[in-house]
Amino acid sequence: MNNKRSIFWHRKDLRIEDNIGLNNCAKITSNLTGLYIFDPNVLKYISSAQLWFILESLKELKSNWQSIGSDLLLLKGDPIQELPYLCNAIKAELIVWNKCIEPSLIERDQKLKNILNRNGVKVNEYWDHLLIEPGRIKTIENSKFKVYTPFMRKWKSNFDSHNSEEIITISKPKNLKKLDKKELNTNTYQFRSRLHLLNELPDLQSLGFDFKGSSICPCRPGENSAREQLRVFCDESLDKTKIKNFNSIFNYGRYRDIPSFKGTSYLSAALALGTLSPRIAWNQSYKASLMALNDKDTNAIESIRIWQNELIWREFYNNAIYNFPELEKGPFRRKWDNFPWENNPLFLKSWKEGLTGVPIIDAAIRELNSSGWMHNRCRMIVASFLVKDLICNWQLGEEVFMSKLVDGDLAANNGGWQWSASSGMDAKPLRIFNPYTQAKKFDPEGIYIRYWVPELKNVNTKDLLNGEISPLERRGYPEPIVAHKEQQAYFKEIYNFYVMRNASKSNN
Ligand SMILES: Cc1cc2nc3c(=O)[nH]c(=O)nc-3n(C[C@H](O)[C@H](O)[C@H](O)COP(=O)(O)OP(=O)(O)OC[C@H]3O[C@@H](n4cnc5c(N)ncnc54)[C@H](O)[C@@H]3O)c2cc1C
Repeated sequence: MNNKRSIFWHRKDLRIEDNIGLNNCAKITSNLTGLYIFDPNVLKYISSAQLWFILESLKELKSNWQSIGSDLLLLKGDPIQELPYLCNAIKAELIVWNKCIEPSLIERDQKLKNILNRNGVKVNEYWDHLLIEPGRIKTIENSKFKVYTPFMRKWKSNFDSHNSEEIITISKPKNLKKLDKKELNTNTYQFRSRLHLLNELPDLQSLGFDFKGSSICPCRPGENSAREQLRVFCDESLDKTKIKNFNSIFNYGRYRDIPSFKGTSYLSAALALGTLSPRIAWNQSYKASLMALNDKDTNAIESIRIWQNELIWREFYNNAIYNFPELEKGPFRRKWDNFPWENNPLFLKSWKEGLTGVPIIDAAIRELNSSGWMHNRCRMIVASFLVKDLICNWQLGEEVFMSKLVDGDLAANNGGWQWSASSGMDAKPLRIFNPYTQAKKFDPEGIYIRYWVPELKNVNTKDLLNGEISPLERRGYPEPIVAHKEQQAYFKEIYNFYVMRNASKSNN
């Protein structure tokens, strides 16, 4: 252990527990200070819901840093400018961070690393965000996977070679030495005008944001809440015979697709922003699986397997964006490059406001607009509707989701939208969801629709699900802006014509 002054920079890892970069840094030196930077280039693309989640998590993170003897510094500005000044000001010799997956952030970090190295500051980077670092899972021919199922199989065979119980090798650091604030002030004299240190955590409004859904957002900020949510979800003491335990990994397979049940973990924001480590999440599910195996409970065993597969979807999409950074900019299947999207601004506006007149679509969008979160099944339904019924470019939807979601994450969001638009890696050429059939299947009693679209609460279930609602019962709720069957036929017509034209062009 040396006495070098060091900085640990938190980005999408807002926790001190099981944080690979932080713990490695604490092994090198105890003279360690935490840092978070409010970067305007990142704030530009962030949703109010996500910034709320970050600010609340930072409150806890700051007090966690204090509890281990040090503190969390807060800066506002472009890291490319701020970090070299800060290192100079506090005479830091080492800066450590966990790597990001977003192509633009990878580029930014490389630039920053060069500048810091030129200034004599060492940079140590680690992978922390995934269970297996991106790029490592390859096909037999040593190439990159493009399809989920073979990726998942290979991933599992690699991961099983670790003992799942031992994947959490690191707990939190302790007995750190705090930075002397007086020293910081004296040293910063020459940098003070350039360095934008914040004395306290800003609030949402002072950063120009507002989020009204904090009390109903199902993703709870902070590492304590994430651990508690995980504990409840994987609760070993749960009486599994009570099949009405919706929010449980043991019943996940049964309830995860029903948006009116609390059948999923709600850990997406915690995993996206790193208030929870994926290793702890996996480990807890592994412990649950041992219990289920012990009880020979086949439903629970299968449920846990499905949940773990969702964590592998997360790994898959992160690998996809890492291996194919061009995904960020457009369709994976280049045949969609010049597709004649109609992008009707009135359709897009109705979709964004939850006023399309199609009950399941409006319920889902209103859930997102109010709470910052949307159920996975509904994400697929509204995405298909925007692309295949309203004939809007999927990238418009991708952008709207990022501007609203508490768990907004480039890899998962881009993956989800490209899957829905049929432009991604997925093999199925054209996937079109019928919103009425989906509603009948996944909200058969209309509970979810009635909750989020209260104007329709007195409409009988059959009409509600068919969308055949009389003008009298609509109570101001709009008529459907499009007829699904006609739009589906129209979309196919445009698609077939486009594909044929492209084929004849390439033959010429
Ligand atoms: C169009 C579209 C956009 C999406 N955008 C995002 C996004 O921005 N951020 C995000 O985290 N997820 C996104 N998803 C994936 C998924 O909808 C959410 O992860 C899930 O609804 C979160 O709820 P949960 O935490 O209760 O998940 P659970 O069902 O409990 O799953 C556990 C965890 O697995 C991961 N996971 C689950 N499903 C997926 C998936 N399909 N792809 C990648 N990871 C997954 C998440 O980290 C999740 O927290 C999107 C899906 C679609 C179809």
